[in-house]
Amino acid sequence: MSNYTYLRRLFQAYYQEKQFEFPKVSSFDLREFGLIPWEKKVYMKRHMSFDNPDVLRSYLITDAPRHLYSSGSLYLKPDAPDMNKKEYQGCDFIIDIDVDHFYTPCKDQHDLWICKECGNDGTGIPQTCPNCKSSKFTKVSWVCDQCLDAAKNEITKLISNFLIPDFGIDEKKMKIAFSGHRGYHLKIESEDIRKLNSEERREIVDYVSGKNINFEILGLNERFNGIYGLLEENIGWSQKIMKKIIEVLNKPTKQIEALLLDKNHFGFNSSVVTSFLKYKNDFLELITKGERNVWAIEGFGLTNWKKLLKGIVALIGIELDEPVSIDIHRLIRYPGSLHGKTGFKVQELELNELDDFNPLDESNEKLDPIVFKSKKNLTYKLEIVENKLPITTIKGESFGPYDKGDKIDVPHHFAVFLLCKEVAKTI
Ligand SMILES: [Zn+2]
Ligand SMILES: [Zn+2]
Repeated sequence: MSNYTYLRRLFQAYYQEKQFEFPKVSSFDLREFGLIPWEKKVYMKRHMSFDNPDVLRSYLITDAPRHLYSSGSLYLKPDAPDMNKKEYQGCDFIIDIDVDHFYTPCKDQHDLWICKECGNDGTGIPQTCPNCKSSKFTKVSWVCDQCLDAAKNEITKLISNFLIPDFGIDEKKMKIAFSGHRGYHLKIESEDIRKLNSEERREIVDYVSGKNINFEILGLNERFNGIYGLLEENIGWSQKIMKKIIEVLNKPTKQIEALLLDKNHFGFNSSVVTSFLKYKNDFLELITKGERNVWAIEGFGLTNWKKLLKGIVALIGIELDEPVSIDIHRLIRYPGSLHGKTGFKVQELELNELDDFNPLDESNEKLDPIVFKSKKNLTYKLEIVENKLPITTIKGESFGPYDKGDKIDVPHHFAVFLLCKEVAKTI
């Protein structure tokens, strides 16, 4: 039996077993559905609709596609093949936070690349192959607790630093879901938000990501040979930046130094950092007392202050996948469906469940995305077909690293993960 046939049967059995617990999205009959089947040659099939969840359930039990999606938009005719004939009624605001789109240090350990030109391989995310300078790679992106925590942290920041205080969005209108792979989705379902066009959505994205902030507008200015800093009384970004500066400056000096030197954060050279650290306590006193607002640090002109503020903004701003939020015709993974590249469930979460949620080792069975655990502790024999695989820690147990050709005997849930990832075959 091919890997696909096996996985598809598993998915069918899952949908059969869970059919009465399968979640229903709001305005169900107005959503467009899309899917990606198991057959390699077929891309996403769109413009489908289901009259009610029963029809969807029986479809899933019979067909069990590899991936299932539904639209953020509502349409009177969701199955019309022409976008202009769907009779668009509005779109939820969708935020996709996926570690594929931002740097996490752990990727240097577990994300692999293989050069398509010369076969060279390594870890991390290189621009070009160090051997032949080609930029064509096969990439193997992996999951780990650190990445998933980073993604969760972005969602938490987004909700508690932006959506609730700045936009006044009621938490009951937010639908959070673990994506089943390397991130989280958030959907805001409110009548006002549904009316926003793409341009207005882009403004929200710019605001929460902190892109294109103009520091002069927030108060940063050079006058009479002195630098005047941000005004904390400016609410919104100015306040967030000042709070974050104070938070950073209260860290141990060693940590501040590392952060300022780190190319992935501030990227200052060592002489600038030495000067900053020499004056940091004076600066901290100045901004916390707030009497005068002249920012004076030796070696810090407007350029370095802007660089510092940009680094601070990057710590506050949200790393989201911009096109997903701007495009009103996007489809997102259907809650409760299975992610065909991991075999994990797309898990809906309440805001108060998010903090403790641990996708790779969740103790609350109702929220556990890893659904293919063997009840009898059976193991499965597989052969690795990818060049190399990193260590994977899942359900508190570590597997690997592996090399191509390794024959392994692993628990069912991990076997399903490797088969879905297409890095192993059954033997
Ligand atoms: Zn190469
Ligand atoms: Zn990671």
